[in-house]
Amino acid sequence: MLSFDRKLDDLATLALRVGVNLQPGQRLLLLGPIEAADLMRRVATKAYDLGAPYVYALYLDEQISLIRAQHSAEDALDEFPEAHRDLIHTMVERGDAYLRIGGSDPDLMSPADPQRVATMVRSQRRVMRPVSDMVQRSHMPWSIVDYAVPAWAAKVFPELPAEQALERLWDAIFAACRVDAGDPIAAWERHLEQLSHASEALNGHAFSALHLRAPGTDLRVGLPETHVWESGGQHAACNGAHFVANLPTEEVFTAPHAQLVSGTVSASKPLSYQGQLIEGFSLTFQDGAVVDFAAERGEAVLKALLEIDEGARRLGELALVPHSSPISQTGLLFFNTLFDENAACHLALGRAYETTFKDGTSRPLEELIREGFNQSLTHVDFMFGSAALDIDGEKASGALVPVMRKGEWAL
Ligand code: ZN
Ligand code: ZN
Repeated sequence: MLSFDRKLDDLATLALRVGVNLQPGQRLLLLGPIEAADLMRRVATKAYDLGAPYVYALYLDEQISLIRAQHSAEDALDEFPEAHRDLIHTMVERGDAYLRIGGSDPDLMSPADPQRVATMVRSQRRVMRPVSDMVQRSHMPWSIVDYAVPAWAAKVFPELPAEQALERLWDAIFAACRVDAGDPIAAWERHLEQLSHASEALNGHAFSALHLRAPGTDLRVGLPETHVWESGGQHAACNGAHFVANLPTEEVFTAPHAQLVSGTVSASKPLSYQGQLIEGFSLTFQDGAVVDFAAERGEAVLKALLEIDEGARRLGELALVPHSSPISQTGLLFFNTLFDENAACHLALGRAYETTFKDGTSRPLEELIREGFNQSLTHVDFMFGSAALDIDGEKASGALVPVMRKGEWAL
């Protein structure tokens, strides 16, 4: 058994060497919650050891966001500092590696009015757009890894005392990130290789649509002619380095056609969105747009999400994850997108990734939009996968090919 200390060190190493793949001479932009100072400092230490000339660390305090949502004047909620954007933009444009440490209270914003939170989110997204463009285009290497904060652990393990809950969440994070068995770098090489087999098989088929069927779900997702299935890692435009944007990652994903989605999809897990929970929800699509929706809990939050802009009502990502994936097998609900999305097949409302279109990062956006790219200020994943999910791929000829049966690969 490796000690906690060793595993947290390995997580820091993994985030730098596999996550952003930091190169000697490359600067690191590091963002994370104040609770994660322990990991932030380990990352900084290793970044300097790997030859970073400078590590710029920014600490975030999510309680301050809640305070603002509850106390700010209504007409000041659409403000977000351009100076913050300019700082980050300068660094990522130069090609600094961008590492985000996540981990937050899934219920943080629940005491606040969803409309006020939505206004804050919208203004932040609008101002930060030049940075998210760089992220979506893989201009520089970027990655996200999560830190177990106590409020998150309490939500995942409500029946356990605080200390044990935290320990269990850490165990789950370490297992999902493959840092619990020594040599995580080698384990990730093997894992990425396996993921690429699935994406290559899907690219070989060049499907024109996928049909998703499960209890409460009957959805036809048209795919752009120029769609590309991606998995695991990507190459950064600025230095060509191979990076892995999500630790963990189990998904193989592409872009749905923003105009060619029809039918109904039911979420198979609750969605934790901006510190608010949306549960038991379904969306009905026509010509690519949501025309009807319902939720057992958090319907107002869902409504606010769909109203962010026109693209928020359309899809930007379709991702396949077998039900037998290790995160799925924990049987846990993490109330955290990075973990829950890697436990189940999912769709995203909002912006697509340029990398999921053929030569997408080097062609004008207008061209991609004509091919079915979804443009939006937001990108929110929600899960529909389960052991009851069947997926067929539709060829241009109309022929159907089984892609998944009962939640497992059938290719
Ligand atoms: Zn995804
Ligand atoms: Zn996504």
